[in-house]
Amino acid sequence: MSDDMLPVALDDPMQFSCGPENPCFNQCCRDLNQALTPYDILRMKAALNLSSKAFLREYTSRHTGPGSGLPVLAFKANPATDYACPFVTASGCSIYYDRPASCRMYPLARAVAKDRATGEIVEYFALIEEDHCKGFGVQDGVTIAQWLKGQDVALHNAQNDKILELISLKNQIRPGKLDPAEEDIFYMALYDLDDFKYQIAEKGLLSSLKLSGEYVKKILADDLTLLNFGIAWIKYQLFGRDLEVED
Ligand code: SF4
Ligand code: SF4
Repeated sequence: MSDDMLPVALDDPMQFSCGPENPCFNQCCRDLNQALTPYDILRMKAALNLSSKAFLREYTSRHTGPGSGLPVLAFKANPATDYACPFVTASGCSIYYDRPASCRMYPLARAVAKDRATGEIVEYFALIEEDHCKGFGVQDGVTIAQWLKGQDVALHNAQNDKILELISLKNQIRPGKLDPAEEDIFYMALYDLDDFKYQIAEKGLLSSLKLSGEYVKKILADDLTLLNFGIAWIKYQLFGRDLEVED
């Protein structure tokens, strides 16, 4: 199998079309080995009206990154369905509007780097031309930038970039493995948001921090605000940074 990566720019034409008319329809939703990000989980559990704990238990598997000690989440592998995603149906993705970032981006790969002079994040894109995917070579008249807009992936990417930045901070400050208790704290604050909420509201997790009652109410009322607080809190709690919140 020849898998090629073709670098592309945002104003290049997107010569690709995906849909049920393609003979490969749904093939990319099988044989998955797909890492899920905290924002992916937030969106999917909300779409299914499940608690984070129920979603994580039912649909995900967790392992520990061998070098980092960080939790890594993926869809639970099911050999009985040929390792198909639990959300694929004959007519496509059953959680299309809340599908993970990697599903939205495919077949584009995205990498980011910080511009040393400005500190701005610079994005790089490449097309992943895999043999099983038969969508290439169709000119739909859209650029890469327009196609990306249609995938509604900007918020996913912005949130996922914050996690990449957190991992890069961890690697600078704590190269090597986190210990298991620290891994559990990382998992709770970023992936198991309902448990994080419970620990804050019922167990006084933040009581030593002198946050205003209004701010605590705000983070308990909205999962995205809670996730962003969780990222700041992990930097503080595990990596010794000042707690930067909009209190
Ligand atoms: S979430 Fe949807 S698009 Fe992504 S692998 Fe599953 S079925 Fe396919
Ligand atoms: S393999 Fe490619 S063309 Fe086929 S359904 Fe998946 S993304 Fe679309």
